Amino acid sequence: MDCSSKKNQYYTEEEAMEALVRSHIRYNNPANNYYLCSECIQFHLTSREPMHPMLKRTEIIERIRKEQQSQDWSQRLRRK
Ligand SMILES: [Zn+2]
Repeated sequence: MDCSSKKNQYYTEEEAMEALVRSHIRYNNPANNYYLCSECIQFHLTSREPMHPMLKRTEIIERIRKEQQSQDWSQRLRRK
């Protein structure tokens, strides 16, 4: 379903959560949270506060840090 927000749509909360974590791995200005859109009845990411409490969990912070490191590595390898 189209949405006037033009944002990426996520069908499930798990998908939105995964996208939120990935935005922290990839971007300097990552999203803080996700919300259920009243227009398309799907989830979107948002940079609005508050930050999702899941992002403060140690295992999530560790995962973001590790995946950022491995991303750095693959970028370095590609440059050779
Ligand atoms: Zn929407």
